[in-house]
Amino acid sequence: MTTLTFDSLNPATGEVVGSHPKQSADAVRESVGRAEQAATWWAGLAPAERRRRLLDYKAVLTQHLKELAGLVHDETGKPVGDATLEIVLAITHLDWAARNADRVLGRRRVSTGMIGFNLAATLEYLPLGVVGVIGPWNYPVFTPMGSIAYALAAGNAVVFKPSELTPGVGVRLAELFAESVPEQPVFQTVTGLGETGALLAKDPRVKKVAFTGSTATAKRVMAACAENLTPIVAECGGKDAFIVDADADLKAAADACLWGAMSNAGQTCVGVERVYVVDAVYETFMRELSDRVATVKAGEDYGPITMPGQLDIIRRHIDDATKSGKVVTGGPDSVRAPYVDPVIVEDVPEDSPAVREETFGPTITVRRTRDAQQALELANASAYGLAGTVFSGNARRAMELARLMRTGMTAVNSVISFAGVPALPFGGIGDSGFGRIHGADGLREFARPKAISRQR
Ligand code: NAD
Repeated sequence: MTTLTFDSLNPATGEVVGSHPKQSADAVRESVGRAEQAATWWAGLAPAERRRRLLDYKAVLTQHLKELAGLVHDETGKPVGDATLEIVLAITHLDWAARNADRVLGRRRVSTGMIGFNLAATLEYLPLGVVGVIGPWNYPVFTPMGSIAYALAAGNAVVFKPSELTPGVGVRLAELFAESVPEQPVFQTVTGLGETGALLAKDPRVKKVAFTGSTATAKRVMAACAENLTPIVAECGGKDAFIVDADADLKAAADACLWGAMSNAGQTCVGVERVYVVDAVYETFMRELSDRVATVKAGEDYGPITMPGQLDIIRRHIDDATKSGKVVTGGPDSVRAPYVDPVIVEDVPEDSPAVREETFGPTITVRRTRDAQQALELANASAYGLAGTVFSGNARRAMELARLMRTGMTAVNSVISFAGVPALPFGGIGDSGFGRIHGADGLREFARPKAISRQR
């Protein structure tokens, strides 16, 4: 029987990076079957032994850092430095998950609080079995590892379906795991297009699906999972807001805004796309931002747009924004496929697609607001609710604004910094999805609480 294949391409050069099988329904079924057996074996190991193997995997990934960064660079086009950084952050999460799994999930006594009943009670978090992880291409190591490491540390086996744009690095992550855990296929990869992900989601032996990708695909994955009541974590898109308050450090705010909006060519779920600046500092902030953006070059400071189809969305949003708003930097000519130069547009109506929909490109809209309260209201008027940023010199107000921001995560006087802190849960609300990866919540996402009460 012939196996159909697909190629992964370097988006900057169009060169073929690798060829991978479009795995058939039978192949996916077989992988899940092997994972089921491996899950039993892995769950049966002592927690200290699982920790040892995961820390060994950490060492293996560290040894292969250069090779993995090269693969990420080839498959996404992002600079090698950025690729290296995402792998280092992924390794940080793996380390935290390995070291904290037993503390978070292990058996503990619970006070019964029932006077007159001689009861004892324990709570522990048991593995689910097989976890299906479906990943995107924009951070092809960091993003899926935020689920894979936590699912493995919680005692599950993982079948990972990497994006069809970045299959090579996904396959390599699982191959390297086998160096630390050669006995059983505890972590496998299945390659293919969206259909392969759907096959994984539909398999009744998969006990949880960790999906990261677009909101539209999350709905399809949920529909597939509904057949077997398979629970899902959905990490979807965003339209993050960046608020600059009157007494903010404007130089630091401009640095952070630029990096948050332009790094990875804006192809970041928690990238800055909407900026709200209070009237009192508007001109000064915009001057700082304009000075900085003039020094940024697509193709040098950041790579190409990885997914060719995304260019159409970016082009549509730039056309829309430049027609209805006031251009600060760039414009329709900024799209030089596969690169997009930075685009900043002011005063784009809040109901236009460029402000409402995820752009996933190096483009931002900026609006002047009366005060921080109005900035917060506009920031919160989004269907998405992944993350956001507040810059303010007033610590109390900054914390208050951060708490009131309708997002899963907010960075204060920095940008995207929460993603690198393993102990913090990562995830959104509204169209940005539900459930949490990372941290203790991320470990519990891949385990089931087991309650036992015992008469003494
Ligand atoms: P996508 O939704 O197109 O694809 C994601 C994955 O789903 C891929 O592996 C794809 O093959 C698979 N897939 C497609 N159709 C499927 C189906 N019917 N059933 C099962 N799987 C299917 O997303 P993308 O373009 O790869 O990634 C970009 C999106 O991901 C953006 O919206 C971005 O904001 C989001 N993202 C979110 C986070 C987060 O943590 N919240 C992180 C990174 C990216």
